[in-house]
Amino acid sequence: VTNPYFVDTLLSEEEKVVLIQHHFAQIMSILGLDLSDPDLARTPQRVAQMYVKELFCGLNEASFPSLSYVSDESCRKEQGMVFIKDASIKSMCEHHFIPFFGTASVAYLPYKKVIGLSKIHRIIDHFCRRPQIQERLTVQIAESLMKHLETEDVAVIIQAKHLCVFLRGVGEDQSTTVTTAFHGKFEKEPYIQDSFYRNLLIK
Ligand SMILES: [Zn+2]
Repeated sequence: VTNPYFVDTLLSEEEKVVLIQHHFAQIMSILGLDLSDPDLARTPQRVAQMYVKELFCGLNEASFPSLSYVSDESCRKEQGMVFIKDASIKSMCEHHFIPFFGTASVAYLPYKKVIGLSKIHRIIDHFCRRPQIQERLTVQIAESLMKHLETEDVAVIIQAKHLCVFLRGVGEDQSTTVTTAFHGKFEKEPYIQDSFYRNLLIK
């Protein structure tokens, strides 16, 4: 999956932490916070580490999970739809750098490859760990699954709440944003899309 929305800075992870720490301290100073206060003194370092090593580690292509495939031939031929319901997602809105979170449900029709279920969760998590918009996150997960599972037949639906909507402005906290990506038979065959939505309703 290509990532046209970010460029390689050529900085190491350690260099990124040092620079972000410096600049976040400036933001805090400009806000009038006293960095000599022991409660605040290490905040720039904590934020920098959290950005680079946790929340945004998915910007580093090297952090893409290594994938193992289920190789049993009969399993591939006879298996119907693989459906992963309500995997939890948490990501950061790229417009406000505030979290959004919810669930991703993913389905595919195995053709050549079946993947370990935990790997699907890791792929989802990888693309969450970037500044994101929900629409792009949905597309990136679908495209990555198509590529690595070697099947066109992939569906992704994400349902999420955005804290930037809740914390700012009107404080609307009830709305859920839903985004979908349907490819192959999930897009073209109504009965396959129907069975995806029926699976989604299973409690
Ligand atoms: Zn936002």
